[in-house]
Amino acid sequence: MMLALVLAASAGAATPDASIRTAAEALAPRLVETRRDLHMHPELGNRETRTGELVAQRLRALGLTVRHPVAKTGVVGVLVGGRPGPVVALRADLDALPIPERNDVPYKSVNAGVKHACGHDAHTTIVLGAAEVLAGLRKDLPGTVVFLFQPAEEGPPEGEEGGARLMIQEGVLDDPRVEAVYGLHMDPSLDVGDVGWAIGPIFASSDRFVIEVDGKKTHGAYPHTGLDPIPVAAELVQALQLVVSRQIDPQEPRVLTIGSIRGGNRFNIIAEQVTLEGTIRSLDAGVRTALRERIARTVAGVAAAHGTAARLRWFDAGNPPTVNEAALTRASVPSLERVYGKPRVREVKPQMGAEDFALLAERAPALYVKMGVRNEAKGITAMIHTEDFDLDEGVLPLGVRAMATLAWDFLARGGPAPPSLAPAKR
Ligand SMILES: [Zn+2]
Ligand SMILES: [Zn+2]
Repeated sequence: MMLALVLAASAGAATPDASIRTAAEALAPRLVETRRDLHMHPELGNRETRTGELVAQRLRALGLTVRHPVAKTGVVGVLVGGRPGPVVALRADLDALPIPERNDVPYKSVNAGVKHACGHDAHTTIVLGAAEVLAGLRKDLPGTVVFLFQPAEEGPPEGEEGGARLMIQEGVLDDPRVEAVYGLHMDPSLDVGDVGWAIGPIFASSDRFVIEVDGKKTHGAYPHTGLDPIPVAAELVQALQLVVSRQIDPQEPRVLTIGSIRGGNRFNIIAEQVTLEGTIRSLDAGVRTALRERIARTVAGVAAAHGTAARLRWFDAGNPPTVNEAALTRASVPSLERVYGKPRVREVKPQMGAEDFALLAERAPALYVKMGVRNEAKGITAMIHTEDFDLDEGVLPLGVRAMATLAWDFLARGGPAPPSLAPAKR
């Protein structure tokens, strides 16, 4: 079987699995080195100057056409294969989080209070590794691969543009026109050596909101001479949970969290104003719209009932759900099975976290996969976005093989297969 694949590859048809595997495994020590270098030097969204520079230099050294900086600090590398064919993109994100590093590891972050707590160091390393492996096989590559290194996935600083939205605005999917895009995330709920996929939503939509409830300051012993916004805010917290539990189909996943309430400055003074901040999540665009409309109605209505005003502001445009396209996903699962082995390729439930990859997935058929990084024996179990998060670096060469294989297979299929043909081709 392996021999047949190698022979077929030399004819330029099938994916050269053995060559990709050999190259990725030879690269393993350098992948670890790169990931640790990035991990030690984490940079926040829209400030990834060192990271972007490193990526751009590596891609140039591989002979790719490089665009840098794009969307502030991002990088796009284009690898044109020796054979004509379609265009596929692989996407990584560059940014770290304002979370201190608690792990005492040799590659501990040197930037105080900043850590790659979401594994984007590994995403960048893996997509760079895939670029290196595919560049080495360029002569037979049946099409073009666009490598997208995106800043500010965790959201740009307030008042700045950034992330996938700005990458799209700056045309990273347009020239060459990208026909499909693959993304990846580290997942500590899966063991290293496992990979997860889903058809349809894999991550939720996310919208961040701020509500300001007006009050009128007075002595706490004479509330009727002012207007107390604190009980109004408390009622609002309850009323918003009723939107979630009573007004949306129970079959539809959704979350509303108020994560912060601020108001007042002394125990016996009626507060001037209360500010609430929160987020909503859903897996469906219709539910997202319904939530947004009903939150607006509830905020205005509860405030009016108590003779005051409240203002609702959506923090930015938010993220839609991340949706894996059915035909692309079905056609791609066999690629993952060849890399990980069939029992390690798992259909997973969507999570209520969010990803701005969703915006790329709105513009081209997309598949976002989750790569296991958990290793109980090594004590690697912490969730992403925590001080303790780490990953089993065994994910790196496997991830490189997966991304390179997904891209090559897509090109070898000749582009997005018509849904009716997708299963039959395998
Ligand atoms: Zn994150
Ligand atoms: Zn992330």
